[in-house]
Amino acid sequence: MSHTLSINGLQKTYPNGVKALDNVSLEISNGMFGLLGPNGAGKSSLMRTLATLQEADAGTATLDDINIFEQPEELRKVLGYLPQEFGVYPRITAEQLLDHMCVLKGITNSKERKELVHYLLDKVNLFDKRNKRVKGFSGGMKQRVGIAQALIGKPKLIIVDEPTAGLDPSERNRFYNLLADVGQEVIVILSTHIVEDVRELCTNMAIMNMGQLVYKGTPQNAMSELEGKVYQKMISRNDLQNYQNNFNIISNKMVGGQPLIHVWAESSPGEGFEPVAPNLEDVFFSKININHELV
Ligand code: ADP
Repeated sequence: MSHTLSINGLQKTYPNGVKALDNVSLEISNGMFGLLGPNGAGKSSLMRTLATLQEADAGTATLDDINIFEQPEELRKVLGYLPQEFGVYPRITAEQLLDHMCVLKGITNSKERKELVHYLLDKVNLFDKRNKRVKGFSGGMKQRVGIAQALIGKPKLIIVDEPTAGLDPSERNRFYNLLADVGQEVIVILSTHIVEDVRELCTNMAIMNMGQLVYKGTPQNAMSELEGKVYQKMISRNDLQNYQNNFNIISNKMVGGQPLIHVWAESSPGEGFEPVAPNLEDVFFSKININHELV
């Protein structure tokens, strides 16, 4: 079945004056949706608002026929949420934890609960570890428990907030596969500051910066918008400041101890620069680092 999440004109200013959501509107349907933004962009504020954990000052959001802010209980029944920090109770095993989460989600029949918990443990590849304490799990295993609990109750909307921070590359890969598998029949919103997460997983995306959405669309479209406008050059470390003053630097990273800069320009910016095919990182940094009228 196909689902639609419509977000319209969301605004949120915290009591300290920080505007975390500045007129955010988005339409999202089934599949993996990537919400990319630097730390402090407002991603968690948006995720918590959609998960009905905090209120917006203005705006509306609907999931199919559920008005999220007016019917929060209805939304919670069809929501799976993996928060940034998935708190784990000490001493409890993976099976006990998931069983407990099922009770909280209103599954009262213990046989039904046991079947579901075993199914979920199997799905996230932790069945063998079901009698081990979650506290001793690796970061990746904890995240998989987090996904298992987010799947309880056949959710239509799954929100995962910065899920891969702290995972090593093989744990991250495993987690990607699991999410991609889950993401086929429901809406999965993956909020992250890691470009690779979105590149690997998402068919649609948005980029958020300072409370605003600065891009909505497919990763491919974003890259083709930049086609022919990204140039790179190896420079010496001492010249970096000079280049920063004179060029639209999208990003700089060290390669073999020397800065490799990517620059945005309509035509070749000068000697030593060579054109490069834009990648998603260029898209991300150009949307957040460069004057937006230019790009
Ligand atoms: P992200 O998830 O993209 O890192 P957040 O939504 O956590 O961004 O934060 C957006 C902005 O709002 C940041 O400037 C952050 O410091 C601020 N902020 C977040 N939560 C609160 C809060 N409860 N009270 C005050 N300011 C907050």
